[in-house]
Formats: sequence, C-alpha cells, structure tokens
Amino acid sequence: MTEIPRDHPRYESLITREKIVEGVRMGFTSQHGLVAQGRGEAFDYLIGEKTIESAAVAERAAVAHILLAERPVISVNGNTAALVPESLVALADFTGAALEVNLFHRSDARVHKIIELLKSHGAVKVLGGKGDKRLDLSHDRAIVDGEGIFSADVVLVPLEDGDRCQKLAEMGKTVIAIDLNPLSRTSLSATVTIVDNVTRALQNMIHFAKEMKLDSRQSLEEVIKAYDNSEVIADALYAIQERLKQQSEERGVRWIW
Ligand code: ATP
Repeated sequence: MTEIPRDHPRYESLITREKIVEGVRMGFTSQHGLVAQGRGEAFDYLIGEKTIESAAVAERAAVAHILLAERPVISVNGNTAALVPESLVALADFTGAALEVNLFHRSDARVHKIIELLKSHGAVKVLGGKGDKRLDLSHDRAIVDGEGIFSADVVLVPLEDGDRCQKLAEMGKTVIAIDLNPLSRTSLSATVTIVDNVTRALQNMIHFAKEMKLDSRQSLEEVIKAYDNSEVIADALYAIQERLKQQSEERGVRWIW
C-alpha cells in the first residue's frame, strides 16, 4: 500500500481508498467496487466525514434488531471485505450473527478468497460458498446459502444493491442497510438505514453490541419501538444541507436557499 503521512488532512479518507485499491489487487474487490467507493466518498464529504447523531440512533436500533433476531446474518461484499474484515468478524462474534459472502460480480474464486480472508481474521465459519438457494433476481447477488441469508430473519447489508435490498424486504426480512447515500433505493427500502461510512458504522455497532448485549428483551424491543426510519433519513438530508451551508459560509461562497 502507498504510505500516507499521518498528518495529511484527508488521512482517513486516503487510507480507506488505499484499502479498496489493495482489495482489487488482492482479488477480494471487483473494479466496480472502486466506483462505489468514489460515490461513497462524495456522500461522506457531504455529511462531514463523521457519524451524525441520527446515524448513531440507527446503529443502536440495528444492534437491537440483531441481538433479538433468531437467525441474523451479516452479508459481506468485496468492498466491506477490503475495508473492515476485523470489524465484520468482531460484530458477528459479539452478536452471534453469521457471516455470509454475497457478491454482485460473483466468482467461486472471489467468494473463497473472501471466506479465507475472514477466517484469517478469526471467523470460525463463513457462509456463501454453497450458494444452494436463489432469490428471485436476475443477477448473481441472487445466489445465497439456504442456512444463511435465505432463511435469515434479520440481514445486515453494508453497501447493498437496491434490487436485492428490496427483494429481502419483500421476503419479510428485517433489512439493515449501511449506505452513505440517504436517497439510494437501498436506503429507501431498508427497515433500518444507517447513513454512515461502513468503517465508522461497524465500529459504533461493535461498541453498542458490547453495551447492549446483556440488556433485557424488553429494553431491546423498546429501542426498536422508539425508532423511526423516515426521521433518520430526513435528518441525514438535513445534515447534508446544513453542512453545505456551513462550508459555503466558511469559504465565502454565496448560498441561496
Ligand atoms: P442503489 O441500487 O441502492 O440505488 P447505487 O446503484 O447508487 O445503489 P451501488 O453502486 O450499488 O449504488 O453501491 C454503492 C452505494 O454504497 C452508494 O450508495 C454509496 O454511497 C455507498 N457506499 C460506498 N462506499 C461506502 C462506504 N464506505 N460506506 C457506506 N456506504 C458506502
């Protein structure tokens, strides 16, 4: 990986970019993942490259859903494998969720590379290699494991494709999306929409999982009951508007609204 000086003002963002490039080089991430990363970076800039308050609320609700689930599954794609392999394994460990590799640009070689990567970070079992069931979709994200996503009641889908997110929701599953674009089809069809960078979101969720792991069923249910996803999306849009306003003021650019 290219050496990035620690004092660079965009250090975090450049490190993330380097990880994706390395993921492509190692064969975990497809070249299309670079484009998705670019889109994500643009939205991250718009929310101020930090976890906004409503995203933290969504992250807590997401953890409550996962802790209450009977068959929770964390779906892993090429970008998340390159960016946050340790966090994926840690979140699965703390919540008892299964990990399943699921790729848009699927090849057996890539699936197995990602399974091995997660195992090298401590995962004992990683699903996705069987692909013995299909969702009703025309692309390869349809291929899932019968004991994993197919029969899951709660699915965490970081950086998801909108079609599959809609399909999972239609199947009656609780879908938790992590997506920096609050207006993507994924964001709008998920049960819980986390508008945050996956690198921060998973860290926060691990923190909440440690904190909430011993909470009673009732108190987890209350977290879910108090949660309103449309409010969270509206707040993300408001945060973007305010950030643009603040940036234009700071830079002396006229803001018309
Ligand atoms: P949709 O099908 O839901 O409308 P899309 O076609 O806009 O989505 P894709 O290219 O399938 O998007 O997936 C990329 C999505 O993931 C984008 O919305 C992008 O903002 C988001 N994204 C990219 N990198 C990250 C990241 N590191 N953390 C969170 N979200 C990210």
